[in-house]
Amino acid sequence: MSCHTAPKQPLDCRSDGSWVEKHAAGQLKELVCIRCPLGCALQGQLAEGEWHVEGNGCPRGEAYFIKEAANPSRTVTGLVRVTGGQLPVVSVKTVPEVPKARVMDVARGLARLEVRAPVSIGQVVEEDFLGTGASLIATKSVGKKA
Ligand code: SF4
Repeated sequence: MSCHTAPKQPLDCRSDGSWVEKHAAGQLKELVCIRCPLGCALQGQLAEGEWHVEGNGCPRGEAYFIKEAANPSRTVTGLVRVTGGQLPVVSVKTVPEVPKARVMDVARGLARLEVRAPVSIGQVVEEDFLGTGASLIATKSVGKKA
């Protein structure tokens, strides 16, 4: 897969066709940690290929910063249409998370998807959704229409 339209900010093309932020040595980056309600303001500096993180109130903040700097990803949740079901839609989520740059693709893809009832909670609705490597998992059961 290859990346399409080159973005204006400095990004690198990943093997899955998505863009990832490019970091230069000495670069400073700031993030707010979202791992707990304290919301520590994190600052990181890249030196010799490693991020040195400050401002974190606990080790989870450093781990969050490094993951966000190297590979930002998100769980996408949404609804998929159900045919022949007691409900018209079923809730799903991506497992594992998808690259942040693909979140909108996945959200749009969900709107085009349809699944036949019955659907069981935990069921894989679709594997490797849109080539992201993530499966769509049902987070609710929907029985067949009587
Ligand atoms: S660094 Fe730790 S204490 Fe601070 S917001 Fe993140 S999880 Fe919470």
